[in-house]
Amino acid sequence: MSNSHHYDLFVVGAGSGGVRASRMAATYGAKVAVAEDRYMGGTCVNVGCVPKKLYVYASQFSNAFKDSKGFGWQTQAPDFHWPTLRDNKKAEISRLNGVYENILDGSGVDVIAGRARFIDAHTVKVGEQIYTADKIIIATGTWPYIPDIPGREHAITSNDIFDLDTFPKKIIVVGGGYIAVEFAGIFNGLGADTIQLYRGPLFLRGFDQDIREFAAKEIAASGVDLRFNNNISRIDKQSDGTLLATLENGNQIEADTILYATGRKPHIQDLGFENVNVALDDRGLIKVDEQFCTSEPNIYALGDVTGGMELTPVALAEGMAFAKTHFNHQPSQVDYDCIPTAVFCQPNIGTCGLTEEQANKHYNNITIYESNFRAMKHTIGGREERTYMKLIVDDLTDRVVGIHMVGEDAGEIIQGMAIAMKAGATKATFDSTIGIHPTAAEEFVTMREPRG
Ligand code: NDP
Repeated sequence: MSNSHHYDLFVVGAGSGGVRASRMAATYGAKVAVAEDRYMGGTCVNVGCVPKKLYVYASQFSNAFKDSKGFGWQTQAPDFHWPTLRDNKKAEISRLNGVYENILDGSGVDVIAGRARFIDAHTVKVGEQIYTADKIIIATGTWPYIPDIPGREHAITSNDIFDLDTFPKKIIVVGGGYIAVEFAGIFNGLGADTIQLYRGPLFLRGFDQDIREFAAKEIAASGVDLRFNNNISRIDKQSDGTLLATLENGNQIEADTILYATGRKPHIQDLGFENVNVALDDRGLIKVDEQFCTSEPNIYALGDVTGGMELTPVALAEGMAFAKTHFNHQPSQVDYDCIPTAVFCQPNIGTCGLTEEQANKHYNNITIYESNFRAMKHTIGGREERTYMKLIVDDLTDRVVGIHMVGEDAGEIIQGMAIAMKAGATKATFDSTIGIHPTAAEEFVTMREPRG
């Protein structure tokens, strides 16, 4: 670490957005430091996208073993060993922490361990050390939130779930967003008796209605006990260590583990905001303009702590745009249009652009194309799982304005579709594209009949 404690840029938080902004700014010649109080790489690398995806892979084997019989594989019912998965995951995440540290080091960024507190708009304190900077970025992300119910201390969040000592025989997952749906799929696939409780009539609020309904049907068929219009009012720990959840309707459910995935709140506690003029919105998120500037002219914020889509690639794009604008004379803005996203439940959900409900508001006339089929693999494999695909087309321009899928590899498939959408592809372009046969994705270029 250098002797001088003044920087061109000081970044608070070494998650996806903070690492990208600091690394790129340093690459452009700025003197940069990043402070991190927990783990290199932030939520995504440590308790988010990366370990989650590893666990999704793990959970998919149970279906693969079942499918394999029809294809001639004669295996005994295999046993799942949680400590192997958990510890292999730990080793991989440690490797990635090192990679992140090396990337920052190699770019000349000073990495400072500890939580930074603002002293004034140009000064932060980490431990006992004072640092000053021309520009400061807050990239501290969000933190899971558990509603204030009696016994909430017995519930865990996505911060804890990855490293459980013992694999739960029975788990209750509370919530109906990305995290709840993904973890219900993971634990169900790994063999736990899994109940998902959601307070509303149908989970995944904000997604296309057909997608939500189709996903609910398939997820329930895959074995997750989905219970909508249900919520926990209290949790009690019983003498044998198991948990007793009492629902708002008075019913009770016992479980080994109760996972709350009821949203995340900005991680801004104890940052010394009383010493600076950083305005928050009514959800407690940091307010920023298009250049990520807060109400304090030299303090910026990006990534999840500012709200928005709360996705790693969005934070990366924001970090990149910031570094280019401020340290490479390349004024840049993030284009938030057509951001594809996937929910790694089983089967996956992949989506880009508008839902049918949004498209109906935006356009005078739209046409819907859809396809609902049993994938070829399941004919011999024997699974009943079905795939659903949907295209939403603006009649006036013929442009495809929404693409949605529930099915195996939807996350992989929708990425390519997003490029087509961003390039302004029309339905005619889709129709003139030759399919890859036999794939599920070819359905997207062979949908000829509009929905009646
Ligand atoms: P979300 O905000 O997506 O979902 C929160 C869920 O909890 C909603 O279903 C909400 O219900 C419910 N809820 C909120 N408060 C309560 C309460 N008091 N009691 C009962 N239920 C409640 O948050 P997540 O934590 O799932 O995910 C956070 C963000 O992380 C996501 O929005 C996403 O951007 C990102 N993410 C992305 C992933 C990916 O790209 N694959 C994976 C995981 C996370 P209601 O709908 O009724 O409000």
